Amino acid sequence: MKLSSLMVGALALTTTALTPTQADPLSDAIAEDYSYLGALFTHFHQNPELSFVETKTAARMAQELSALGFTVTTGVGGTGLVAIMENGEGPRVLVRADMDGLPVEEDTGLAYASTVRQKNREGIESPVMHACGHDMHMTSLVGTARRLAATRDSWSGTLMLVGQPAEERIGGAKAMIADNLYERFGRPDYALALHVAAGEPAGKLIYSKGLAYSSSDSVDIRVYGVGTHGASPHLGNDPVVLASQIVGALQTLVAREISPLDAGVVTVGSFHAGRKHNIISDHADLQLTVRSNDEAVREKLLQGIKRIAENMGRVAGLPEDKLPKVDLSVESTPVTINNTELAERIEGAFQKGFAADDLIIYQQKGMGAEDFPYFTNVTPPVPGFYFNVGGTPQADLDAQESGGPKVAGHHSPFFKIDPEASIKSGVRAMTLAVMELMPAK
Ligand SMILES: [Zn+2]
Ligand SMILES: [Zn+2]
Repeated sequence: MKLSSLMVGALALTTTALTPTQADPLSDAIAEDYSYLGALFTHFHQNPELSFVETKTAARMAQELSALGFTVTTGVGGTGLVAIMENGEGPRVLVRADMDGLPVEEDTGLAYASTVRQKNREGIESPVMHACGHDMHMTSLVGTARRLAATRDSWSGTLMLVGQPAEERIGGAKAMIADNLYERFGRPDYALALHVAAGEPAGKLIYSKGLAYSSSDSVDIRVYGVGTHGASPHLGNDPVVLASQIVGALQTLVAREISPLDAGVVTVGSFHAGRKHNIISDHADLQLTVRSNDEAVREKLLQGIKRIAENMGRVAGLPEDKLPKVDLSVESTPVTINNTELAERIEGAFQKGFAADDLIIYQQKGMGAEDFPYFTNVTPPVPGFYFNVGGTPQADLDAQESGGPKVAGHHSPFFKIDPEASIKSGVRAMTLAVMELMPAK
């Protein structure tokens, strides 16, 4: 998909849009629920856990959803959980919340800031923080579950709530699918998810009818050489020089090989080689991140990396069995593309429940990635819709605009959101979306 297709016109005001003065039972119910949800958010924020070790978080999610009448299975894809509520005939709708925090030391100064330290799956201890807002996602999922469990006569079908581990390692969704998620719990007719967005006005909904996130691939390259004395380079084969040439040559991929109208990134984020000034090492290691908005571009970049690295090894005179080794399967996630028909249907539901100026058509500002497409890119595909909920108070955005403090982004130690505005909107939007897809019979 080309970027230009995202430049959808501004939303028209519809006659069904709510004005703030209209009575709105859903909004009242969520407002009443907020004392519970606000406390739950604080609990999650103060108790973050790292990817694939979200055991206490998953246990709390299981407890919350079981108490509402869901049948909960834990340990799906590691620390993931699935909560099912069968409520008559109708579609099966998957709603996903990711659960992991990040190895970041919180520096927000918030009264409920995390002071947690935890060992990751590999045993390395670090501070932990919900620096991406997954605490908001879990709270919104529980809030949505509370609303839907309380109003079972107003929808019909099977609700399939998913607490996903390890989104930050782009591994959790894949692990759940590999653990036979759909074979065990049924294949959904639709899959939905949300993400809070720092830098967007709190409580507003931001969504795309097509491209939502870029693909991301982590690539490792081991460049072999022949070690020798630094004063006798002619007796070896210097992997630092070769790896440097590879880094340079990789720059032509985006600049010369993909269309100037397509987006792509090839970044070498890590370059490690050698131990000492006067020793030519026998290998160098490169670590890359590769982004695209389109599967064809993605494939071109990945195959281009392999082609360039291997052939630069030939240029350096390395034998065939010592050519640079390229691992394209370290971590990867495809492009997240919303199903247009589904997006339009849900937009209709949003328009009934939100004022027109609360709805913003997403325009891509960066090349962030998500592992949500693992839930949708199955055969045949599951139509998916992924949207953002603004998390930053308008006053903070205004202050930034007039030269004041910058709003901290995701993964920053200063990351913070307005929980009340974003959770209330998240619950409301997700409840409306599910009800649209699962009308009462
Ligand atoms: Zn994140
Ligand atoms: Zn995130």
